[in-house]
Formats: sequence, structure tokens, C-alpha cells
Amino acid sequence: MIEVTRKTFETIDPRTEEVIARIAEGEKEDVDLAVKAAREAFDHGPWPRLPGCERRRIMLKFADLIDENIEELAVLDTIDGGKLYSLCKIIDIPAAAETIRYYAGAADKIHGATLKMSRDLQAYTLHEPVGVVGHIIPWNFPSQMFVMKVGPALAAGCTMLVKPAEQTPLSALYYAHLAKLAGIPDGVLNVITGYGSTAGAAISSHMDIDKVSFTGSTEVGRLIMQGAAASNLKSVSLELGGKSPFIVFDDVDVDKVADLALQGSFYNKGEICVAGTRIFVQEGIYDKFLNKLEEKVKRWVVGDPFNPNVHQGPQVNKQQYDKILSYIEHGKNGGATLFSGGKPAGQKGYYIEPTIFTDVTDDMTIAKEEIFGPVMSVLKFKTVEEVIKRANATKYGLAAGIMTNDLNTANTVSRSIRAGVIWINCYFAFDKDLPYGGYKMSGFERDMGLEALNKYLQVKSVATPIQNSPW
Ligand code: NAD
Repeated sequence: MIEVTRKTFETIDPRTEEVIARIAEGEKEDVDLAVKAAREAFDHGPWPRLPGCERRRIMLKFADLIDENIEELAVLDTIDGGKLYSLCKIIDIPAAAETIRYYAGAADKIHGATLKMSRDLQAYTLHEPVGVVGHIIPWNFPSQMFVMKVGPALAAGCTMLVKPAEQTPLSALYYAHLAKLAGIPDGVLNVITGYGSTAGAAISSHMDIDKVSFTGSTEVGRLIMQGAAASNLKSVSLELGGKSPFIVFDDVDVDKVADLALQGSFYNKGEICVAGTRIFVQEGIYDKFLNKLEEKVKRWVVGDPFNPNVHQGPQVNKQQYDKILSYIEHGKNGGATLFSGGKPAGQKGYYIEPTIFTDVTDDMTIAKEEIFGPVMSVLKFKTVEEVIKRANATKYGLAAGIMTNDLNTANTVSRSIRAGVIWINCYFAFDKDLPYGGYKMSGFERDMGLEALNKYLQVKSVATPIQNSPW
């Protein structure tokens, strides 16, 4: 590890509010150094020049090492981010290894096209790596964010920097260590820990970074674009915030859908950009649905994320905890009915009760703004047309859930909602094959799936006369 500034910052365990470790605080000088290494590795190093099958071999080794270190990585994400250990172990980390494998499989299948031209020319396209990439990621899924950025960029032949969120830097450092063990050459994958306004801003405004791939808030997404525009016009991809509708029609199995709705709002303590926190319930089952929610939320356990019986751990840090509690106050004072929860859970650590508001109207702050915590708003609706209009009445467009057994309704609503991911009769159905990203102010371009590979590739067109024609 190289560090110029020699400053450090603390990373905190949200269960206990105690310091876990002091981490190198990278700033502009460190970013410059990492960019120099990545540029050298891109311009002269082996990685972009290796046959795709060689990159695949090394990436598969990286994936195997992730699998061999599931335990360590799961512990790091749990103590750093307050995430459920049991789920990190069976979902987040195995899925991280699988994501690297998925893109390893693509590394030797990056082809252009042969073009039939209208004139006496033959032409083809080459898909070339975009160059040096800066990835800036958030804290809510430290492992999955890391691999969904790094996987396709490595497969494409790019070299890169990753800046993990200052709240959860630990697993990123461990992934970098595993990447080195796997044989990814020096300079290809550089991790810079530090704050957004310093290290992050130095990435978005760097003159020698070719692309920045960002996941985080809409506010910071705007700053990233400004940094790119004011520097070298690097290309930008943004995965931003959301306020997703979860629509429940009269014809559903209420018991099953109430379970899904709880997961949709409270999974990962609500710290998930695609959380379905605007629960629109059709009037015919409204009361029945609330009864089910009441019954089920009583069994939703908040506590130590290492305890396998717990459903919800602590919020990531004090700032997030305070922000969520202030939104809950907004809900209480803004005319909504507090149906359950509504206060901190426990004395120590950043725990908050799963909170449900009913009688919520579209204009209330809790129905409009992304809370990023365990707060659900329940809204009543009558018709398909009405709910489409209300679901779309947001600046965001990340995801939507449609719960119905009526095929016509499912088809109509899924085509009418302006969002990047639609889940019908399921929620959080993620897969490495499923492209993922937003409409409107939720961002542009896609992570995951083969779509994500494209954002790390340039298309070069090559044309030549077929014969010695007079060109
Ligand atoms: P954030 O925008 O505050 O921070 C994200 C990253 O950007 C961090 O690494 C941070 O250090 C960095 N950053 C902060 N200021 C910066 C600046 N001026 N220049 C460059 N980088 C800067 O977001 P967060 O609080 O870490 O995460 C929560 C947000 O992320 C929510 O809005 C959530 O919806 C969004 N999110 C979106 C997705 C998605 O796929 N669309 C996924 C997860 C989270």
C-alpha cells in the first residue's frame, strides 16, 4: 500500500459505535499516484493486451479466492456496515464471486461486427477498453458494489481505481488483496480509501481518467457530472437514488404480498436504493392488508446482525441514523398516521424500529424523498390509471413492484411505469444477468448483465475499400 498524505480516518462499528480501525485517508496526491499506476498499466502493461481467455483465467482465480474467503469478507461487511452476517455469508459474498465469474466468462467474447456497407467498402468495428476507469461506490452493499463495477471493467481490459465509501472501506481493501493474489497485475486495480469531497472529487475531476462509474446519491451524481464536464469530459455513468412504488392490486394473496412488502421496505434496514417504500394498496384489500402488516411487523426482529434470528441490524452510521429519525418526525408531524415503530430500538448502536406510516398522501415529505432507512409509507388507490399516474409522480425512476394475478394489469402497468427495473409478483429479484439502473433522476447506463460490459468499451470503426477503388 502506498500513501502520500499519511492521514487516517476512523471506521466505526454501528453495533457498538466503537472504532474498528484507522484507515488511510487518501486525497488528491494519492489519487494522482493511483492514476499514474493505472495509466502505465493501461498504456504499457499486459492487462489490456492479454488474450481474453487469459483475463478470464485470472478473474476465475479471483472469484475462487473470494469463495475461499467468504467468512472473512462477511465479517468485514457486518462489522463495518451493520449488515446481516447470515445474509452476507449466503448471498452477498457468494454473489460477489459469481459476478466476477460471470464477467470472466465474457472476457473472451468481446467482439465487434462486420459491416455490409452501401458503398464499395468493407468495414468492421473493434470493441476496445475505454481506458482508466474511476469507480466511486456507496456503503450499503460494499461487496456487491465493488464487484459489479470491477467485474465488467476487468473483463473489458480496463485499468481502474475504486473509491469505496468512507463508512465501509474494509472489504474493498480485502478484495484488492485477493485480486493481487489471483495474479491481476500491479496497477490494474487500485483501491483509494478516503472521503468523497477530497478523494472522490479528485477522481471525477481528474484529467487522466477516461470514465467515472458512480453509484450513490442523486446530489453527488450531479457533482460527479460537473467534475467531469469541468475537466476532460470523461464519460460518466450514474446509478442514483430512488423512491420506488410497490403496487398491490385487489386480487393478490394478501398474506404473501404483505411479507414481500416488508422485505421491500426493510431489507438491509431500508438502506437499499430500490427499496419499495411507497406501498400503494388498492382500496378493496386495504384494511386486510394493514392487518397482515401489523401481524408480521411484530415478528420483525431488530438486533445484533450476527444473531441469525435477527431481520434488521443497525443503520450504517450516526449521520444516517439521525437523518432517518428526522424523517420519522416529519411523518408524525406532517399528517400521516404512525402505524408501527417510529423510534430508536435499544440504547446503544444505530438501531431503529421498522416504521410504518398509513394515511400517507403523495405530497408528504415521507412519500416524496428517499429516506434510505426502515420507513414504509402506505397509500390507498382505486384504479389502474390512477396508480400509474401516482407511481410515476416522482423525480426518480429506479424500480417498481407490481403485485397482481391479472396478466393484463401486469402488462399495462409494467409498460407504463418509467423505471429501470420492474418486478412482477416478486421484489429484489436480482441476478447477474439482469441489467440494473435508472430512468429520470435515478441515473443512466446500467450495471450488471452484459449491458454493463458496454460501458467499459469504446467502439472503433475501421473501413477500407474492397478493391483499389478511387477513394
Ligand atoms: P453518497 O452519494 O453520499 O456517496 C457515494 C460515494 O460518493 C461515496 O464513496 C462518497 O465518498 C462519494 N462522494 C461523496 N461526495 C463526493 C464528491 N463530491 N465527489 C465525488 N465522490 C463523492 O451516497 P451514499 O450515502 O454513500 O449512498 C446512498 C445513496 O446511494 C442513496 O441515494 C442510494 O439510493 C444510492 N444508491 C444507488 C444505487 C443504484 O444502483 N442506483 C445503489 C446503492 C445506493
